[in-house]
Amino acid sequence: MSINIAVIAGTGMGQLLGEGVKKNTRTPFGKITYFELLIDSRIKIIFIDRHHSCLGHFDLPHELNHRAYMWFLAEHDIQFVIATSAVGGINGPNGIENLTVGSIGLPMDFVDLTQKPYTFAGRESGLVHETAFHRSPINMFCLVLRDLIAHHVDCAHGILSCVQGPRYETRAEALILRDVYQVNFAGMTTAVPEVILAREAAMHYLLLANVTNMPLEDPPADGAEVKVAIAQRQERLLKVIKCLIHILHGTPPEFKCECIKTPSVFQMCEQSQD
Ligand SMILES: [Zn+2]
Repeated sequence: MSINIAVIAGTGMGQLLGEGVKKNTRTPFGKITYFELLIDSRIKIIFIDRHHSCLGHFDLPHELNHRAYMWFLAEHDIQFVIATSAVGGINGPNGIENLTVGSIGLPMDFVDLTQKPYTFAGRESGLVHETAFHRSPINMFCLVLRDLIAHHVDCAHGILSCVQGPRYETRAEALILRDVYQVNFAGMTTAVPEVILAREAAMHYLLLANVTNMPLEDPPADGAEVKVAIAQRQERLLKVIKCLIHILHGTPPEFKCECIKTPSVFQMCEQSQD
């Protein structure tokens, strides 16, 4: 049975999703650990424990080896990536006023404030191409996947920001995110490098943004309360993820989205060498 769905989340989520087998592999960007999980004893998926808590430590957002695990998913012909990420919720922009701790949102676009070159191109991978890495920036978070699950979440649009982390935004920075960048979901370097790499690999990528703090209304005092908020909402996230997995495994709609409009950079680089 081939696997075409991957979930990227925290360790607890993997344990809740199903029984898993831990495996290790190498990529041009380094080693990774992943899990093969069986959902409801019949649907096989790949699970990536983003922060590697399963290995007895915790990789902070700025320490994640995004290229290694996204390369692995692309190499294994994963088509659909469902990711979760803890974010700060900001009401106001884009007509969104209902975010509270515990809300689940589906960002439609992002602002990358790190401006780092997140790409598979380069010496490590050997991928070189004149045009392949200039990908469409439209609907980076798969529009079809968002539509499939929109009625299960609290907010099915909005803008995600990416800052380096691991610290939280200051109040002044959060005001800039709201008033200048129209941001609703303040995130760190988790989903944003991933969604960029997913687009290079022509994979459909969906983010379930889990609001764990409200930077302007009730600023977080420390990471402990975020951890509590994540734990409290895990069951609900689990339901949404499983629902989507069942749809994708059953009779999914036709995917005519921007994600697969252009072949992956892997295919394009290979073709240019022929
Ligand atoms: Zn798509």
